[in-house]
Amino acid sequence: MTQFCENIAYSYLAEHFGTPLYVYSENALTNAFRAYEMAFSGSQPLICYAVKANSNLSIIKHFSELGSGFDTVSGGEIARVLAAGGAAKKIIFSGVGKSVAEIAFALNAGIKCFNVESLPELDRINQVAEQMGKIAPISLRINPDVDAKTHPYISTGLKANKFGIAMSQAEQAYQYAANQSHLKIMGIDCHIGSQLIDLSPLVEACQRLLMLVDKLSAQGIELEHIDLGGGVGIVYHNEPIPNLNEYAQAVQNLLAGRKLDLVLEPGRSLVGNAGTLLTRVEFVKQGEEKNFVIVDAAMNDLMRPALYQAYHHIENAEKNKQPEILADIVGPICETGDFLAQNRQIAAEAGDLLLVHSAGAYGASMASNYNTRCRAAEVLVSGDKVREIRQRETLEDVMRLEMKFL
Ligand SMILES: *Cc1c(COP(=O)(O)O)cnc(C)c1O
Repeated sequence: MTQFCENIAYSYLAEHFGTPLYVYSENALTNAFRAYEMAFSGSQPLICYAVKANSNLSIIKHFSELGSGFDTVSGGEIARVLAAGGAAKKIIFSGVGKSVAEIAFALNAGIKCFNVESLPELDRINQVAEQMGKIAPISLRINPDVDAKTHPYISTGLKANKFGIAMSQAEQAYQYAANQSHLKIMGIDCHIGSQLIDLSPLVEACQRLLMLVDKLSAQGIELEHIDLGGGVGIVYHNEPIPNLNEYAQAVQNLLAGRKLDLVLEPGRSLVGNAGTLLTRVEFVKQGEEKNFVIVDAAMNDLMRPALYQAYHHIENAEKNKQPEILADIVGPICETGDFLAQNRQIAAEAGDLLLVHSAGAYGASMASNYNTRCRAAEVLVSGDKVREIRQRETLEDVMRLEMKFL
C-alpha cells in the first residue's frame, strides 16, 4: 500500500526529485497555524512563527500570507523574512548575542521589538539607536527559573541556562532600561524551552511574569505586551503532548482584565509534523551483533537524533511490507553518532524508500555539508500540486567559496 503526502505519492516525489528529500504538506502548515489562532481567539495574539525551526523562504512566505509575525534569532533570519515578503512591523528579534551590525540592520528595517537578554545588550542597543537617531523598541527576556522538563539541550528557562535576565535582577534591569535615552520599553518575554510535554511549566512561567508586570506597574513602568515564547511539544512517538486549548484557556484566564497584548513564538508545533524526510535504502548490513539499514540520508540532513537522541518514527513507504528486522537505521557519515534511529523493527531492502516522519522542524534548518554532502532538496505539496522550494545543492555550490583560492 503506497503512502501519500496530501494527494501525491511519496514514491513519485522520490523518483521525480531524488533523495534525500524534504517534503512538506501546505495543508498541515495552515492547519497548525489556524489551531493556534482558534485556541487563542479570545486574546487575538500576534503569532510570531519562530523562523529557526524551518527557515525556507517559501514556508516563511506561506505563514506571512496567513498573517503570521516572526520570531528571529539573527540578522540573517530577519533578511529571510523581509526577502519572503514578511512585515518588518511583525518581527521580533531574540537571541543572547546580537551584534552591532545585526542591531543596526533590525533598527533600519523597523522591527516590532528586540527581546533583550542582558544589561550589556541594553547598552549596545541604546548606543546603536542613538547613533542612528532612532528609538529602539525593547522587551526584556526574563528567565523565570522553571524546569521545562524537556531534553537538557532544549531547556532554556533554568538559572543555569545562558538565556534571559534573572528574575531577581529584572526590576533593576527595567529601571535601567527606562533611564536610557534611546530605548522604548514595550513588553516582557520568556522562552523556557522546546518540545514541552507538560503544561504546568508554561503556565507557571506566565504567572511569574505577571507578578513582575504588577511590580513594574507599581513603579510606573507600564508594559504593552507579554510574549510567552515558543509553542507546545509535538508527537514524535507517543508522548502525551499538551492540549493547545487548555494552554490557551489557562493563559487567557491569567490575562483576563489586563490591558496586555499577547505574543506567542511557536516554531516546532507549526512545522514539525508537516514535514517528512524521504530516504532510500542503500544496503542492509547484517553485523555480528546488530543489523544496519544504511540509507542515503544522514546526520547532516537531520541532526536531531545525533544531537538530542531524538526519536523520529520511520516506516517503509510501502505500508505493511514484510518481513521486519530489528535494526539501526544509519547514514553514510563517518561518525558512530550518525544514526536516524536505533533498535527499530522495520522492513527494508536495498532500493526501498523510507519515510522519516515529523521532520519539518529543526531538520532542513540544521542541515550541514559535513562529509561534503550536498544538502537535500525541499518540496511543498498542496493537494495534487508540488513545488520545489529548495533546489538540491550541487558540489559546485558546496566548493564555490574555496575554488578561487586554489
Ligand atoms: C527556539 C525558540 C522558539 C521556538 O520554540 P519551539 O519550541 O520550536 O516552538 C521561540 N522563541 C525563542 C526565543 C526561541 O529561541
